[in-house]
Amino acid sequence: SKTELRAYRDLSTETKDGKKIELYANIGGVDELEEVLENGAEGIGLFRSEFLYLGRNELPSEDEQFEAYRRAAEVMAGRRVVIRTLDIGADKQAAYLGLETEENPALGCRAIRLCFSRPEILVTQLRALYRASAYGNIAVMFPMVASLWELKKLKEISAKVREDLENEGKKTGAPELGIMIETPAAALIADDLAREADFFSVGTNDLTQYTLAVDRQNERLIEYADSHHPAVLKLLEMTAASAKKAGIWAGICGELAADQELTGLFISMGYSELSVSPAFILSMRKNIRETDLPIFTGANK
Ligand code: PEP
Ligand code: MG
Repeated sequence: SKTELRAYRDLSTETKDGKKIELYANIGGVDELEEVLENGAEGIGLFRSEFLYLGRNELPSEDEQFEAYRRAAEVMAGRRVVIRTLDIGADKQAAYLGLETEENPALGCRAIRLCFSRPEILVTQLRALYRASAYGNIAVMFPMVASLWELKKLKEISAKVREDLENEGKKTGAPELGIMIETPAAALIADDLAREADFFSVGTNDLTQYTLAVDRQNERLIEYADSHHPAVLKLLEMTAASAKKAGIWAGICGELAADQELTGLFISMGYSELSVSPAFILSMRKNIRETDLPIFTGANK
């Protein structure tokens, strides 16, 4: 029951055999920060930044974004806040962007692809993120990476943004720069990406869509959208193994992160962070505390 679950608010998130897991929350706006704290999340694992861009008539300014990111960083008081850069494409309504209609928006000019074609959008967002990271533990996460050159280019743009801010005498932090693993390509080259990224977070919603060739918006295909499919689980396993080899952390922020049937499997694969909707935090903490994996983690050996 709800009151029983309240007891898990301030307990540590660790398995029975003593493996510590970062249990984070997914949010889509600053108005959800209160719910994050109420439920005792240890951080924010996916802050979708689209709320700043949608339902309006012009791009959000650097200062407007800075205020929102700073607020999240300050409210979380040193706990990690993973902010994802803009993931918009022809399927999301933002008339002022003047996006061309596409036949296959999921395979289109989306996320970092849109940002590369409109670099000023990305630079403004990164400037706000770097400035806000002086006020807390912000990590920047790039969506829809499929190739190593994309990550290298994103890191170059980020380094330039930081340098420019410093030359302007503005305060910045040094946020971790990580990527979502949500294309099969990214999972398959995770060894290479892990050498360039500070962390991985698997977006199982898109990873399932692209792996199984099943449109996540198409309700007629629900029976095919099997995120327990062995192909999806294999890509998850490869991703965690590559992260471990390179010594970076890996988490899961797609909906599958909250699938309690798979919690033990994810932890045994090597995932150290699970990011779920704020409403699932307490039941997930209970679930993790009831998980016992001595054979996998070696903690009881
Ligand atoms: C995902 O693809 O799993 C994900 C977390 O991102 P979004 O659902 O915003 O595409
Ligand atoms: Mg996604």
